[in-house]
Amino acid sequence: MKPENNNSPRPRVGYIGLGIMGRPMAGHLLNAGYPLTVFNRTRAKTEPLATAGARVADSPRAVAEASDIIFTNVTDSPDLEAVVLGADDKTDGVLDGVRPGSIVVDNSTVAPAAATRIAALLEGKGVHFLDAPVTGGEKGAIEATLAIMVGGEEEVFHRALPLLQRLGKTVLHVGPNGAGQMTKAINQILGAIHLCAMAEALALAKAAGLDLEKTRQIVASGAAGSWMLSNLAPRAIAGDFRPGFKAGLQNKDLRIALEAAAQLGLDLPITHLARRDFQHLVDMGCGDEGTQAIVKTRGNQ
Ligand code: NAP
Repeated sequence: MKPENNNSPRPRVGYIGLGIMGRPMAGHLLNAGYPLTVFNRTRAKTEPLATAGARVADSPRAVAEASDIIFTNVTDSPDLEAVVLGADDKTDGVLDGVRPGSIVVDNSTVAPAAATRIAALLEGKGVHFLDAPVTGGEKGAIEATLAIMVGGEEEVFHRALPLLQRLGKTVLHVGPNGAGQMTKAINQILGAIHLCAMAEALALAKAAGLDLEKTRQIVASGAAGSWMLSNLAPRAIAGDFRPGFKAGLQNKDLRIALEAAAQLGLDLPITHLARRDFQHLVDMGCGDEGTQAIVKTRGNQ
């Protein structure tokens, strides 16, 4: 992909994975004037973007054939491997259609080791890879205020930057391939532990007969405040467990973080406790609810 300047045509963009995050993110690229081709496993989810002017492809391979820069945003490491390497027949993946010089940008949260594996496979075809996971939730995706942590070659990062800046407010190159996902694992440790702290604080407030919303308001405004208390505690108090970020995905991210830490010989005891709580929530059948449902593990709701 050539660097963008005022005289060159805009690169053709592909987006694969139009879930809670991918759909608004792809929409921003379309609205910014990039010619967009999309693929989603469940085709019905492509309809809003097709109506807005995107082309719908039949496979990740067809997206890659039609694009200079290809974004992916799927659930977990095996899903990223399926869209890049091909699913059942192994001929419909990004790798089968992509041309040398193209860039693949992965916005999913996957294992750092998966990111480096995919990067090496793409490099064998002369294709660049950036692991570019995001944080900021569904709201950040819709408002294009995400924070994006990017691993890969710095020169490739700068080529992709104008597009990434359409998706987020803070876009930072954090190191080579894998560093973006490692940074995201650190982010997820913090988010999960903050959520467990929120659940425990609300459980005590409830048991003590305090007004939950007043308690939340005052503690959120001081040194104990957190994004979770400001954004997710109001939903938990209102009994609104619809997902922005699904509890099952948070559980996956804690697994990724603990595996990455173990590979570095590091024990993270509080992260293990948070993992236990999120696994419990998933076992309760709440994996598709929002992460604020963690309050249910403390008997709230
Ligand atoms: P989601 O709504 O469940 O969407 C997942 C997307 O991945 C769907 O488009 C799904 O297709 C696709 N997919 C999954 N497995 C696939 C496979 N094997 N082959 C092809 N497509 C596959 O999840 P999301 O909330 O958008 O999250 C997407 C990624 O962003 C995850 O890695 C998540 O951890 C991360 N993330 C999420 C948030 C958040 O607040 N939601 C924030 C930061 C990061 P179908 O439609 O066919 O199921």
